[in-house]
Amino acid sequence: MAIEQTNNDQNKKRLKIDSDKCTSCGTCIATRDDIFEFGEDGKAKVKDEADFSNEDLDSLKGLCPSAAIAEEQ
Ligand code: SF4
Repeated sequence: MAIEQTNNDQNKKRLKIDSDKCTSCGTCIATRDDIFEFGEDGKAKVKDEADFSNEDLDSLKGLCPSAAIAEEQ
């Protein structure tokens, strides 16, 4: 499955990572390792425990040069 997504029921804000776009550059993880991590497939994923309640999602999305980070609608 191409889309990794969060399952954090405590927050309305959610992010997903399109693994087809992710180049595994590591920028998002190097910048915010409290939110992103590498998955077993070598692509970035959103940590299950990531808390977006006080986050600016546009800033987080802007971390990715490949536009792989998107807000889940
Ligand atoms: S910054 Fe984007 S391309 Fe790089 S690891 Fe994160 S999601 Fe993948």
